[in-house]
Amino acid sequence: MTQIRMESISKTFPDGTEALDSVCLEVHDGELMALVGPSGCGKTTLLRILAGLEHPSEGKILFNQMDISSLSSHERDLGLVFQNYALFPHLTVERNIAIGLQKSFLSKSEKKEKIAGVTTDLDIYNLLQRKPSELSGGQRQRVALARLLVRNPSIHLLDEPLSNLDANLRSQMREELAKLHREHKRTTIFVTHDQVEAMTLGERICVLNKGKIEQLGVPKTLYEDPKNLFVACFFGSPPLSIFHGSIEFSTSPARYKFIGSGNLEFELPDRFKESRQNLTLGVRPEHFKLTFDSPKQDFLIQRIEYLGDYQVLHLQFEEHELTAKTNGTTPASGQNIGLEIDWGKVFWFDATSQSRIQL
Ligand code: ADP
Ligand code: MG
Repeated sequence: MTQIRMESISKTFPDGTEALDSVCLEVHDGELMALVGPSGCGKTTLLRILAGLEHPSEGKILFNQMDISSLSSHERDLGLVFQNYALFPHLTVERNIAIGLQKSFLSKSEKKEKIAGVTTDLDIYNLLQRKPSELSGGQRQRVALARLLVRNPSIHLLDEPLSNLDANLRSQMREELAKLHREHKRTTIFVTHDQVEAMTLGERICVLNKGKIEQLGVPKTLYEDPKNLFVACFFGSPPLSIFHGSIEFSTSPARYKFIGSGNLEFELPDRFKESRQNLTLGVRPEHFKLTFDSPKQDFLIQRIEYLGDYQVLHLQFEEHELTAKTNGTTPASGQNIGLEIDWGKVFWFDATSQSRIQL
């Protein structure tokens, strides 16, 4: 059982690219942590450093409080599944999986038994004699997982293992990964650039951006209590609507006036008693409420996405575009409607620093 601790890990590549900047992160024993962030933010680099395939420019890595920075990859008792699965094309599935057992002291028949067990669990037992080129993406993915599981090291590092699969298979594999984790309880870091994957799989989520941690927390915290605009925008589908503007308190009630050529403004609740400039307002689609009778301002419904139990409305007012969700009355596109905002749930940000502020 292993707890991972990264202390101020930085990485600058020889060409000057700064991939990681003082990353401090602790993964609990047996935890499944999702590491999420846009392409190029340093996710793979961090995994490769953990795996010992890359040296950090600065910082320390501890497994169970022991500094393992000087240990080679083989000595670290971990397994890595790469995005492209890294299967050997000229070897059969069975031999690809057996590579995971190369260093074990099991007898030949014990190895065979082990491979049979794991591949039966993953439903690829009947494919053992095939070559990787004769497999579908999902099957290759399972072979890569099987190679990890026959050895079942104490740390599992998975680098975007589902990104090459189509949507249906992805959600199925997500369930299987969650199940494997429940069964084996290995300390796992699951890398993804997909917010839904991170939300559904991660017990905690670490959001990385430009080599730095933006926020670490359980999915609910990241969604409901983001620290900054980046995190607020990263989670939620469709994403929140963003408006730059200011609060004007000349007459009661105060108003939130949107920056732009038009004159969009909303009345604020009574507790807002001060003017304030340079704000960004973020509203999640579910925090708009549609109003049909005598709205103060007309929003034009540009487009409606029908998603069964709810609909996504793309709305426009002058140059401002926003997205609302509703599961109530069905409006039609081309129609005008009014909007109310659930002011208790919106996010305020300083427009310059993009940090979240409480108002
Ligand atoms: P991610 O996995 O989040 O997409 P990476 O960790 O692969 O991001 O890359 C982070 C940054 O480091 C990127 O700007 C990438 O171009 C750069 N990078 C990765 N590997 C190397 C390398 N060997 N040499 C120089 N730059 C690299
Ligand atoms: Mg990557």
